[in-house]
Amino acid sequence: MKDQLSQFGEAFRDPQLARSMVTQLKTSARTPMRIMEVCGTHTMAIFRHGIRALLPPTVTLLSGPGCPVCVTDQNDIDGFIALAQREEVIVATFGDLMRVPGTYTSLQCEKAEGADVRVVYSPMDAVQLAQEHPDRTVVFLGVGFETTTPTIAAAILTAQQLKLSNFCVYSAHKTVPQALAALMKHPQVRIDGFLLPGHVSVIIGMEAYRPFFEAHATPCAAAGFEPLDILQGLLMLARQIEAGRPALENAYPRAVTEAGNPKARAIMNQVFVACDARWRGLGEIAGSGLAIRPEFSQFDAARRFKIAVVDMPPPKGCACGEILTGIKTPPECPMFRKRCTPMDPVGPCMVSSEGTCAAYYRYSS
Ligand code: SF4
Repeated sequence: MKDQLSQFGEAFRDPQLARSMVTQLKTSARTPMRIMEVCGTHTMAIFRHGIRALLPPTVTLLSGPGCPVCVTDQNDIDGFIALAQREEVIVATFGDLMRVPGTYTSLQCEKAEGADVRVVYSPMDAVQLAQEHPDRTVVFLGVGFETTTPTIAAAILTAQQLKLSNFCVYSAHKTVPQALAALMKHPQVRIDGFLLPGHVSVIIGMEAYRPFFEAHATPCAAAGFEPLDILQGLLMLARQIEAGRPALENAYPRAVTEAGNPKARAIMNQVFVACDARWRGLGEIAGSGLAIRPEFSQFDAARRFKIAVVDMPPPKGCACGEILTGIKTPPECPMFRKRCTPMDPVGPCMVSSEGTCAAYYRYSS
């Protein structure tokens, strides 16, 4: 089975096919074009497979706001830290959030000072923690897009079935299509096409992008994360841009359908409802967040702990906001590789495994 899977994966890394697609891309992309890979997983895959170096000089790739940790607003990071400072709370989080600097400190620093912060690998691990510690309240830090939200909704439903009164979620979840629209309206941003995230598209389906596409008529292609998937998506975009015929195309049909995954969407909609949300770099975007529905309010950490959000600016001099909107690249930040490194990060884009600054640091000289 493992061999079959690896052979399947290899099929999407075939060097001969990749060369042919690069040649087609060079022929198709004749005029300069700026394409944004929305998702941090794409950013990492593009670097890892050396795809940037293969592209014709007419194609500029920009990294977008698709890293969940990076787009989490400074106020939410401070909110996470405020929760960790409460004695009765165990904070359960994915590891990427640990070192993200808040205004004054980070979860990692708070843990070193004695706060009970635990790294978990799934929201269900946090539910289990709550079962094991009935005298404490476990707060799971919910960040991420439509890919992770269904599993967090499932954890809340499980906690409800188990009648757990000591489990809740701080919801800082976000949705992708609304961010695309915000980017198109941003006065400093110029994007000719979007490479849409494969895993988010698996859940929401191509139809979820249609309102955005119809409003902005911007070339779009959903792509998987293997080199041939990415090249196919770029090729589709280059042809659309060159022909001046925007389309909403699917370069990942083996996983993405028009309707997406109805079960995952149903569970997500059962627990969450759209709300306005603040994004690092993009500010507040109407309808781009997911709040816990009032009927599940006992699992909503923000309501339960009434966290007072104080508007604090992002770290001084950090250009993460401009990186996430494609206005700047990491080497244009004066702190890149100097004051800011993965060992001592200033902003989240250098911390996260999907962060653009971390990708540039790791893969470019
Ligand atoms: S290099 Fe560091 S300080 Fe500069 S934008 Fe990236 S994360 Fe922020």
